[in-house]
Amino acid sequence: VEPSELSSDVVVIGAGPGGCAAAAILKQAGLGVRIIERMRFPRFVIGESLLPHCMDVLKEAGLLEAVKSRGYQLKNGALFVRGTERCSYDFREQHTAGWTWTWQVPRADFDHTLASTVEQMGVPIEWATRVVAAELPPEPGPRWLSIVDEQGTSRRIYARFVIDASGYGRVLPRLLDLEAPSGLPSRTALFSHVEGDRRPVGPDAERIWICIHPRGADLPEGKRGAWLWIIPFSDGRTSVGAVASPTFFDAFPGQGEERLRAILATEPASRDRLGDARFLFAPETLSGYSVSVKRLFGPGFCLVGNATEFLDPVFSSGVTLALESGARAARLAVRELAGEAVSWHTEFVQPMARGIDVFRTFVTRWYDGTLPRLFFSKKQDPLVRAQICSVLAGYVWDDSNPIVRQHATRIPLLAEQVA
Ligand SMILES: Cc1cc2nc3c(=O)[nH]c(=O)nc-3n(C[C@H](O)[C@H](O)[C@H](O)COP(=O)(O)OP(=O)(O)OC[C@H]3O[C@@H](n4cnc5c(N)ncnc54)[C@H](O)[C@@H]3O)c2cc1C
Repeated sequence: VEPSELSSDVVVIGAGPGGCAAAAILKQAGLGVRIIERMRFPRFVIGESLLPHCMDVLKEAGLLEAVKSRGYQLKNGALFVRGTERCSYDFREQHTAGWTWTWQVPRADFDHTLASTVEQMGVPIEWATRVVAAELPPEPGPRWLSIVDEQGTSRRIYARFVIDASGYGRVLPRLLDLEAPSGLPSRTALFSHVEGDRRPVGPDAERIWICIHPRGADLPEGKRGAWLWIIPFSDGRTSVGAVASPTFFDAFPGQGEERLRAILATEPASRDRLGDARFLFAPETLSGYSVSVKRLFGPGFCLVGNATEFLDPVFSSGVTLALESGARAARLAVRELAGEAVSWHTEFVQPMARGIDVFRTFVTRWYDGTLPRLFFSKKQDPLVRAQICSVLAGYVWDDSNPIVRQHATRIPLLAEQVA
């Protein structure tokens, strides 16, 4: 290694939740680890409603206390709204013996907290530095990344193992030609932060609200389904966003704030809460965010979080999957670098795919109307509610839950029984 070059046992690309969880676990295991992050934090990113299972990973990674100290908005469940109908889940109802609460977090502050805590653990972060090339040969030999800082200075960083947690940067998928299309139809999100949310009183105040927009039902097959999220923060701000196929948005006037206001005004629950709200920034649009990859690992590297696959925001699964995959990848890298033979396929790809597939069924069954039928049915079976609630809490690896084991067949069957 030349004086201008860096080296580390493991290099993590990206300091989002996936990267920070991985780095913290690697560091605790005594490995040398370094993060390369393109931005300077705090930086805005969407994805603010956590699931209770996040708490398990944050605890394992030694990050929970730091997050606790930030005083974020408690989240104790999820409320689904369709016109005047309500379906509220309290995480204490769940089948799994897991966490019954979590937080809703402004991600700029949350991600900054995670990254600062990881730095305090002794993990150096190269801020405002991009990974631009990767040399990861299959045979044993030097592996390195090319990085470029703000001044345009290029360096090499050598590593025994690379974890790509670069989110939508999708660094290794792009550089190694691993990108694949998602099987889900393309959808668009339009979102902002607001002040002046007329918050309800009672337990539903501490839940994410998922409000079905009446006009989503009129869209053609395959484009059906439109909904809004309302995510309250503890500082009085509220995150609001609309998700639907691009066609849905075209039916509303204007752009940005005017358009989002028009969408809110035509869904009663959001209109009641947010009709007079003040927008804190011009709404942003994200489109075609569902993505996938051909492979999750290769010799000397693996992909975690949004650098792998992102489904849909409706069940707030993104950060949970980023944390879980980051933690799993770190544990396996520790064993591999200690000389153990690790099967990335059976110990990483398969378990991640099993969990993601549970959410995939939920997403597909949300948009095709099957889950709303179950949610808003008059016949509510407490056992079924507990099983659904566990998935909503992120416990998608709990094989004692019949809905986790047989999600593909059970959801349509249960919806038929309540029809
Ligand atoms: C509309 C919408 C709503 C969502 N709502 C939710 C929600 O309510 N709850 C939830 O859990 N999830 C939600 N998500 C998903 C969530 O945003 C992501 O799943 C989550 O941020 C993934 O974390 P990550 O660590 O994989 O990546 P990120 O948080 O994206 O972090 C990746 C980091 O890598 C850095 N990076 C990128 N390229 C490079 C490079 N070349 N070199 C170095 N660094 C690089 C980036 O700057 C970034 O800081 C939502 C997503 C969308 C689109």
